[in-house]
Amino acid sequence: LNRRLDGFGTTIFAEMSALALRTGSINLGQGFPDTDGPEEVREAAVRALRDGRGNQYPPGPGVPELRTAIAEHQSNYYGLEFDPDTEVLVTAGATEAIAAALLALVEPGDEVIALEPYYDSYAACIAMAGGTRVPVTLRPEDSRFVLDLDELRSAVTDRTRLILLNTPHNPTGTVLTRPELAAIAELAVERDLLVVTDEVYEHLIFDGEHLPIAAFPGMRNRTVTIGSAGKTFSFTGWKVGWVTGSHDLVNAVRTVKQFLTYVSAGPFQYAVAAALRLPTSYFRDLADGLRAKRDLLSAGLTEAGFGVFRPAGTYFVTTDIRPLGATDGFDFCRSLPERCGVVAIPNAVFYDTKERGTPFVRFAFCKRTEVLNDAISRLKQLR
Ligand code: PMP
Ligand code: GLN
Repeated sequence: LNRRLDGFGTTIFAEMSALALRTGSINLGQGFPDTDGPEEVREAAVRALRDGRGNQYPPGPGVPELRTAIAEHQSNYYGLEFDPDTEVLVTAGATEAIAAALLALVEPGDEVIALEPYYDSYAACIAMAGGTRVPVTLRPEDSRFVLDLDELRSAVTDRTRLILLNTPHNPTGTVLTRPELAAIAELAVERDLLVVTDEVYEHLIFDGEHLPIAAFPGMRNRTVTIGSAGKTFSFTGWKVGWVTGSHDLVNAVRTVKQFLTYVSAGPFQYAVAAALRLPTSYFRDLADGLRAKRDLLSAGLTEAGFGVFRPAGTYFVTTDIRPLGATDGFDFCRSLPERCGVVAIPNAVFYDTKERGTPFVRFAFCKRTEVLNDAISRLKQLR
């Protein structure tokens, strides 16, 4: 294995999902819904397959119908205007968008600031690009993980190339606020930095609102924004994601993308175009349903003895296991299936400084209510 990838073995999600299968446990580890997205969207995919739309290589940047729907979505929800022909790119999930953006924009030796804990692919992609990861740690405060803006400011050096943002944030559920985003935007403008922002959970918001940093002053032409149908429409297996940004930035990402996958998911692209045009009630119902599940699982985990950080967005809740007398999230997650038949993710995997994440464990709540109730009663046996 290329030395740049030293230390990147099997992803924690694959490891933990395999453990769930092996032990017959309830899988609240890897984040994927246990109910598929809207029937009419599935039907749109079937129609595209039958009608022979997308069964052969679709256009490199994505099918025009989907690029137009993405541009309309950014305009309708956020007032951001992008040219579907030059400023929108369809990718193989957000995962490819992240990889292509970092490979396109980071030179060997460049520093990339990432909010820690960070989604696991960020570290691997920064490494593949030959960049240096500079984590800025979100600190637990009361019931929320908070970004220290002074720490972010002092993390910027002459070598900093870009800030890699993620809001709503996996795994903490933090949603960056307007003042926080305004401060990050000011910093990016002042230090002439690019921002790559992973907004795959943009519609999974329970408190506050999602604000894309691209809409802040001076940011449109220095921001690459990433979205995903996996999260917004509950089709994680389709791997349809997208990038919006200025022509120059999107063109750079496209250059890399064409040599990673060239294209993908032809028929699904037509279905996602239909999905993006669902009435706003779809998006509201999605958030409402998940908010109820957040409340259910948060209350259950509290009753089971965990410290709970209430997520404002995403479908993850981060907990503190110390009130249960445990200290190490890795040991805790490895023994949890045997102890009570539940699988979770140790947050330490998302940290450079593992000690900072050791006592935290993440549970996914994008599961049917009866599954969450079953998991809660199992977890209550831990006390
Ligand atoms: N970014 C974050 C923060 C995620 O949680 C995920 C979920 N897997 C992804 C990117 C990847 O999205 P996709 O499945 O569309 O590749
Ligand atoms: N994003 C999902 C999570 O955080 C997992 C995606 C994956 O397995 N790569 O659980």
